[in-house]
Amino acid sequence: MKVRFWGVRGSIPTPWKEAMDVGGNTSCVQVIPSTDTLIILDAGTGIRLLGNEMVRNKRAQNLTGHVFLSHTHWDHIQGFPFFSPAFIANNHFKVYGASKAEERLEDVLKGQMNYQYFPVQLDQMGARIDFIELQEETIELEPGLRISSCAFNHPGGVYGFRIEHEGHSVVYATDMEYTLESLDPRLVEFAKGCDLFIYDSQYTPDELQSKTGWGHSTHTAAAQIAAMAGVKRLMLYHHDPLHSDQMLIQMESEAQAIFPESHLARESLEIDLSTL
Ligand SMILES: [Zn+2]
Ligand SMILES: [Zn+2]
Repeated sequence: MKVRFWGVRGSIPTPWKEAMDVGGNTSCVQVIPSTDTLIILDAGTGIRLLGNEMVRNKRAQNLTGHVFLSHTHWDHIQGFPFFSPAFIANNHFKVYGASKAEERLEDVLKGQMNYQYFPVQLDQMGARIDFIELQEETIELEPGLRISSCAFNHPGGVYGFRIEHEGHSVVYATDMEYTLESLDPRLVEFAKGCDLFIYDSQYTPDELQSKTGWGHSTHTAAAQIAAMAGVKRLMLYHHDPLHSDQMLIQMESEAQAIFPESHLARESLEIDLSTL
């Protein structure tokens, strides 16, 4: 199983010269099992690049793709209207997100494409798009390829995802606010022993002081949680738009002092889990 990062920035796209190396597109990660099933975690602006590459490689036709949304904040859905394969007839996308009492997932995704905001409506995109509302559950996309969802702490709620296939595992846990004091033991359990742990490291501990309640963690908490969960490798993810490449490299080395296998998630980085 491989994992490829298409967007690693939090909050808002960050086209900024001093942040180009790590990358400015918002949340989107592709999980590539040996069967090549298309699995996409979040549809931030990074999904546009993934779609363009699929078209370029002539792999954008007659496919079924699975798009799992951690939640529907802008930086996790804003790329979907620019995802070219969703405009191609005979493609089928299943979009998964948390079931909520007060709103339908389908309405939220359609809402961001209302004519006040966007010229093309979701119904006009061309592909068949189905919406699947999740509980905390495990679903099997194909024999032996499982994805589990678990709710964590973020304003409006967020789901973490754990994907398992052929003895390898990746945990995608972005947009969640935990310190060692407020840590939900379910997160440690959820991430336990995974190969790759992708975790929200938006702030420094100093920044968190004025941003408590905004729903994000620090790079030092990320490293501590990774150590507690006994993961193989931590990917620091959902970088703050204020953080330059230089600042992020500093945060990476601070995280490594706590958990040596800490690395910055960077746009277009691909990791083969069998090499970890
Ligand atoms: Zn976010
Ligand atoms: Zn969010």
